[in-house]
Amino acid sequence: MKKRIAVLAGDGIGPEIVPAAIKVLEAVGTKCGHSFDFVSAAVGGQAIDDTGWPLPDDTLNLAKTSDAVLLGAVGGPKWEGLDYERRPERALLGLREMLGLFANLRPAKLYSELADASTLKREVIDGIDVLVVRELTGGIYFGKPKGVEATATGHRGFNTEVYTTEEITRIAKIAFEAARKRRKLVHSIDKANVLESSELWRKVVIEVHKGYPDVELRHMYVDNCAMQLIRNPKQFDVIVTTNLFGDILSDEAAMLTGSIGMLPSASVGAKVGMYEPIHGSAPDIAGKDMANPIGMIASGAMMLRYSFDLGKEADLIENAIQKILAQGYRTKDIEAPGTKLVGTKDMGELILKQLGQS
Ligand code: NAD
Repeated sequence: MKKRIAVLAGDGIGPEIVPAAIKVLEAVGTKCGHSFDFVSAAVGGQAIDDTGWPLPDDTLNLAKTSDAVLLGAVGGPKWEGLDYERRPERALLGLREMLGLFANLRPAKLYSELADASTLKREVIDGIDVLVVRELTGGIYFGKPKGVEATATGHRGFNTEVYTTEEITRIAKIAFEAARKRRKLVHSIDKANVLESSELWRKVVIEVHKGYPDVELRHMYVDNCAMQLIRNPKQFDVIVTTNLFGDILSDEAAMLTGSIGMLPSASVGAKVGMYEPIHGSAPDIAGKDMANPIGMIASGAMMLRYSFDLGKEADLIENAIQKILAQGYRTKDIEAPGTKLVGTKDMGELILKQLGQS
């Protein structure tokens, strides 16, 4: 297989962690007979410094004409004073919109070796493997009318939660398809006891489910789901939900696993998928060889699985990560007594070496 991958390293720790992911993907390619062509472009603050805009046309064109996008992180204190439209984070919204990425996939999988780094008890979280499928381009963040207007006594702020049959159908399909490659269970999360938009959500998900009789579907209200994720997270396989509920629940699920530096994500929907760790540019540790590159490397594994259908190759990467953790190597964010502290570069090299041995 031959693929072209757009590499947008971005700001802060982005340029430190992206090279590790590229090396690992190159090694898997060589091992399994695939050729990956990596083409870099500027994004975020780096692009603002070069061109004045966070998502220059050249970068967008490269993303659109590649087979997938690998993104580090954007943002930092240097650009915080800029207008909202010119801030580094606008590049992410632009890429999502222009690439038609309506589904965000966030796995929260616990490596058993890190169970003690979580705030929850080992027996509650050991073995959790949840995939949150969040609708990304609809719902209350985009619905109209919205705004703040004057009233006789002060102001009134309002947003509108809107979902159409088409939007719910396509995200439900992504969730059922993903469940087919996993443990075949989907929890659809809504607030159908209160919200009309959720009533439609539930009705459409039930309809789409008819095409997936091999997958089990359960419904849960969002408040109960927030509680169940803490009480018994192992009951979940795939969670599918709206933009707003997914924003909150995916962060909650992520924290079950201990460190923000460990977790990858995928945004998919149309031809080109985008893969990035869930964390930001971590300006507080940038340039110090302290960042955990595992979320970035695991994002590369997700790219192989979801964009290129290379599940076995993705497993190779995830197994190499697990073996290195089992050997006791840790970056600062996941360090524990009795473990071996390493920097960003060394962690990347260790995973690469492990891959060569498997
Ligand atoms: P952050 O995720 O960058 O950092 C939060 C904390 O987690 C920091 O203490 C940081 O050191 C730590 N951390 C993050 N990634 C780590 C890693 N790989 N290894 C070890 N520790 C890690 O969030 P923030 O501080 O709120 O935001 C910093 C900047 O990043 C802001 O400009 C924000 O807008 C931007 N941001 C970008 C993205 C993105 O590019 N997708 C996402 C979130 C925030």
